[in-house]
Amino acid sequence: MEESLIKKLMASMKCSVCGQHYEVDNIEVLKHEEGLWYLRVWCVACHIQYLAAVVIKEGEAPEVITDLTEAELDKFGNMDKLTADEILDMHNFLKDFDGNFSHFFNQEQV
Ligand SMILES: [Zn+2]
Repeated sequence: MEESLIKKLMASMKCSVCGQHYEVDNIEVLKHEEGLWYLRVWCVACHIQYLAAVVIKEGEAPEVITDLTEAELDKFGNMDKLTADEILDMHNFLKDFDGNFSHFFNQEQV
């Protein structure tokens, strides 16, 4: 999946605080590890930054996680410190995530 497509996907999301759609220009790809993308998004309306993780599995709709805390955002702010353990943590987090984003994206992308 291409970076531009990931950004477009993220732009279809709404800010969890104010409901404003994200804009592609305010989405930054921090890191890309196989099917796992780390993004930083910035809400133009309420100026809150989020760290988002997008999981791309072959043949499945992408899952987007946007509700990471500011502390976690800080932790990921210096990507040089990102370790395999942290990626594993993210995988474990995503494994337990049962949000309905897949349904949302199916609607958006078909
Ligand atoms: Zn907002």
